[in-house]
Amino acid sequence: MMDGSDTPRNAANLVLLGPPGAGKGTQARMLEEQFGLVQLSTGDLLRAAVAAGTEAGRAAKAVMEAGDLVSDEIVIAILRDRLAEPDCAKGVILDGFPRTTVQAEALDGLLAEIGQGIRAAISLEVDDAAMVTRISGRYTCGGCGEGYHDTFKVPSKPGACDKCGGTEMKRRADDNAETVEQRLRAYHAQTAPLISYYESRGVLARVDAMAEIEAVARELNAIVAKAVA
Ligand code: AMP
Repeated sequence: MMDGSDTPRNAANLVLLGPPGAGKGTQARMLEEQFGLVQLSTGDLLRAAVAAGTEAGRAAKAVMEAGDLVSDEIVIAILRDRLAEPDCAKGVILDGFPRTTVQAEALDGLLAEIGQGIRAAISLEVDDAAMVTRISGRYTCGGCGEGYHDTFKVPSKPGACDKCGGTEMKRRADDNAETVEQRLRAYHAQTAPLISYYESRGVLARVDAMAEIEAVARELNAIVAKAVA
């Protein structure tokens, strides 16, 4: 347990829930730095699989472009492999997983096998109407993955990343208005039920994620500090 020394504590695993554009990735990166946990984004893992042309990537590509959910089988297999890597032993912040009840149950099973569980599931609560604007303005640094936004988070030097100085910025293929609508539908139909899943297990916290990035981060920090203690 955390005792104020540098002794490693038992792994604290967290889940971030919320529709596309809620800020899961941005907040997960900040929590990763603050608490020494590992951000684990199944979206990032799938995009890497697509770029590498693996079998899973080839199966996932068209589904992702349409804004639908990739099959539980593929996503759970990718997550299981990543979770088995040594850096995850200190605890993970799951960003974009689980997205279905089948995935949530599989995650509970995988963690139970190693004597762990979910310490907190944090629901980032937002208005759908604002998500299209948030998503269509966002981009990331190709070098380090830091996220930016045309309106809400501009780099201090235009075109250059504040974190690593990189100048190659990337926009996601699925960050367009039509795909976002479908991603929001998928969220409400398949993922939103997980809010009650975690509520019934006594680990749910809700955060108003319409506030400014820094204000949301402060609220999350307080919740996570308690969860990892
Ligand atoms: P994200 O980066 O989390 O917005 O995910 C981008 C896309 O990857 C989603 O729209 C889905 O097509 C796919 N995806 C990511 N995570 C999952 C998951 N846990 N289950 C199913 N599909 C996923």
